[in-house]
Amino acid sequence: MKYSILLLLVMNVLYGAKIAEYKWKRGQTFSQYLEAHNISKSLLKHISNADSMFLSDINPRYTIYELKDEDGMLLQALIPISEVMQIHLSKRDNSTQYDFDIIPIEFETNEYFAQVKLKNNLYTDTLASIQNKSVTEHLMKALKVLDGTPLHYGDTIAFIYTQRMRASKPYLEPKIKIVRVLTGGKEKFIYVDEEGEGFTQTNKLATYTVTGKRKVTYSKYVPVSKAKAMFGMPLRRIRVTSHFSYSRWHPILQRYRPHHGTDFGARKGTPLLAINAGTISYAGWYGSYGKVVKIRHGDGYESLYAHQSHIRVKVGERVKKGQVIGYVGNTGRSTGPHLHLGLMRYGRWIDPMTVLRKKSLKMSILKKFIKYENVNTTKYKTVTIKNVKENKAKLLHYIKNHTKTFKWEE
Ligand SMILES: [Zn+2]
Repeated sequence: MKYSILLLLVMNVLYGAKIAEYKWKRGQTFSQYLEAHNISKSLLKHISNADSMFLSDINPRYTIYELKDEDGMLLQALIPISEVMQIHLSKRDNSTQYDFDIIPIEFETNEYFAQVKLKNNLYTDTLASIQNKSVTEHLMKALKVLDGTPLHYGDTIAFIYTQRMRASKPYLEPKIKIVRVLTGGKEKFIYVDEEGEGFTQTNKLATYTVTGKRKVTYSKYVPVSKAKAMFGMPLRRIRVTSHFSYSRWHPILQRYRPHHGTDFGARKGTPLLAINAGTISYAGWYGSYGKVVKIRHGDGYESLYAHQSHIRVKVGERVKKGQVIGYVGNTGRSTGPHLHLGLMRYGRWIDPMTVLRKKSLKMSILKKFIKYENVNTTKYKTVTIKNVKENKAKLLHYIKNHTKTFKWEE
């Protein structure tokens, strides 16, 4: 009998097999996991160099599903390596051998409505009526835009949000879509963007980068309003050889594979620079990433510099932005000298290139020369928050039909 764990997670039909939930332990290695489940380590030899990188990406925050038979033997396991991709381990029929693959995570997105009447304070009233702390906290974040506007007893807050569900359980953070605040008989709408930030208008100001040729005879100050734009580049000369991707289609393998960082081509021994000031949170060998330095920057950011030939810092040390922390190398699973730069925000991999800026040392050094250089300029544009019309219509429809507030179970 061939069991499909993906199907079982949805159907709960078990044929004597059992589904267990498991959390990856901090510092646990994949080979320890295999050992704990009596799986032969020969499996490791069949994992390609590229795929073995992801074994270091297994994160204690995600739930792992295991399918076991009556005797507790592991039949299948789904082990997330990011929000969208997971390792799929499966035991072959009538064999002690296991297969390894990386596949997309299956989840569905549900929409919910809630209406809360203000009695004591918004937080406790919302929590009491929907029984979901995470949604309540995201609502508070979206309503920050109201700062300074007092709400009163009897005011109502109606809102729509979505929650991704994996195996019938909330998966990742909920997303507030739109909120209507009814205060003193007046209605106000709060439109919420992809980041969960609320706006009283349907437009917001967004930054974008323009690349162009420019005659550089002086150093130009690029105004940036957000702290995250203060990150610099990890190398003095930048050549990106592979971009970040949560899941990209590999035409030769005919499968999806993520790349949790940006690769920069550079010669062995090239100095690696801290992309921002921070505290060294790790310095040493880190599985297939080889010699690694991690820096904690505050505001939820942590950067990782992999495959180094030589590390120049120690755990706990404070570093400045641009300080040399190590040198480019080829340690761990790597096909040639390069820097793999990873960047986490609150424990999740994000694309480093979205926060790195090229304004640099380099531009001020070139001050005395007249030269044509590629330059990035930060510009601003007004963008419309997605689906405002549809969300507003939906919300009004829910309100008009006296839709019941969805209550989560404990
Ligand atoms: Zn890489």
